Amino acid sequence: MPRIPAALFGLTLAALLQAQSPFAAAPPAPSPVPVLKDYPDTPAGKLLREIKEHTEVVARVEHLCDVIGPRLTGSEQLRQAQAWAMAEMKRLGAVNVHEEAYDFGLAWTRGVDSARLLTHNRLRFRVDQLAWTPGTKGLVKGDLLLVDARNLEELKAFKGQLKGRILLRTNPDDKRPPLSRRGGGFETYQAEQAAMTQFLLDEGALATLSMSGRKNGLSFTSGGAGRDPKKLALPAAYAPQEPYRMLLRLLARKEPVTLELSLGGTFSAAPVQAYNVVGEIPGREQPGEVVVVGGHLDSWDLGTGATDNATGSSVALEVLRAFQATGLKPRRTLRVILWSGEEQGLLGSRAYVEAHKAELDAIQAVLVDDMGTGMVQGFTLQGRENCRRLMAQAIAPLNDLGVKELSLRVMGSTDHAPFDRAGVPAFAAIQEPVDYFLGTHHSQMDYPDHLVPDQLVQGAQAMAVTAWELAEMPARLPHGRVALPVTGAVNPSAPR
Ligand SMILES: [Zn+2]
Repeated sequence: MPRIPAALFGLTLAALLQAQSPFAAAPPAPSPVPVLKDYPDTPAGKLLREIKEHTEVVARVEHLCDVIGPRLTGSEQLRQAQAWAMAEMKRLGAVNVHEEAYDFGLAWTRGVDSARLLTHNRLRFRVDQLAWTPGTKGLVKGDLLLVDARNLEELKAFKGQLKGRILLRTNPDDKRPPLSRRGGGFETYQAEQAAMTQFLLDEGALATLSMSGRKNGLSFTSGGAGRDPKKLALPAAYAPQEPYRMLLRLLARKEPVTLELSLGGTFSAAPVQAYNVVGEIPGREQPGEVVVVGGHLDSWDLGTGATDNATGSSVALEVLRAFQATGLKPRRTLRVILWSGEEQGLLGSRAYVEAHKAELDAIQAVLVDDMGTGMVQGFTLQGRENCRRLMAQAIAPLNDLGVKELSLRVMGSTDHAPFDRAGVPAFAAIQEPVDYFLGTHHSQMDYPDHLVPDQLVQGAQAMAVTAWELAEMPARLPHGRVALPVTGAVNPSAPR
């Protein structure tokens, strides 16, 4: 996964991944998980055995997905999941179980989306509205136009042609050299996007359609700007590749192509609060020092958010379960945090870091699992070479399970990142991707069917043992900010 500024995640990682892998091949079959012949009579050995023999990690994902369902931040379903997670934490022996609120902005609810050609073959096809964009308030009809402008300057070339049009914003056959990357960071990018949206609204465009980057009819979603009531947005949706490319072929005939579109998303009347769920096992000797294990409980809503990120949430709860079942009491406090608003830009973890600024020095480390069902191969050191020796010690009991990699790589796109930027040693699990980036991530196939149970169980073992070792070791991981260049890129044609 590329490093991008956290604030860009909700808005552009989706687009970035789209840009990177629109025609990638099918994912390889999952690798076999190494089998341990015996378990040493150590705390790590006890945790490994407990999780292997009595895991609840798959059952918990199934409950979250099949019974509760998709968990868009701000939704009633996420609130249900949070109530369930708190009950689960208490059942698993955690104390100080509570929620922490932060301001989120407007909530958004998906409605019924539809698209139908009124010319040519009159096909109905799937479209999925981008979350946090306005609905069309019923059926709208418009002639299609390919508008593959990548910035305001290119967009201005379409002046006078956009009124009443539905715009196709992806050009998969674009042969132009990429725009040179300019400095300025997130604010500049945001300002450019806002100016483009303003231009489209002023010109009277009806809506935009973008092409899903996934093959074989898979759709995709991400979020638009409308969470902030002051920001402008235009109705926008993704269409799968096959119907989208059909629209492009029809346009290439130089004949009018008319589409009937309805996007049913609606906003809440007023801004809402969002919540993080927290529970802990107090340390037996140094309760004031903390090892954090977390995942994000929120999800997108085309599927049920099984691999993004019911898996990481369930793994974090499994760490609690394994500690309780083995009776192991860590030297430092184990704190499990299930964040929200991750998909809109790491909002929950950013709010947590902001609210706990004064206590960050007491955090030994933060471990986050957010790359789906795949087994854990190691952790990203986020450029923290000075943490390598102690992290190597922490994962040593897991080496035979395939957990060996300590990459200096900086991953910026999940909830460890705000901690990392605040100077806390915070690491993301490096996981076998399985079909995450080619399939389940943000698409309508994100159901528990795509779990690989052996790999997920190995992931829970890896997180539990690493957390235990970090909680137990006498030494403290070195803190401090690591200066690194921003290597993230922004796809300028990200749909708005
Ligand atoms: Zn995620």
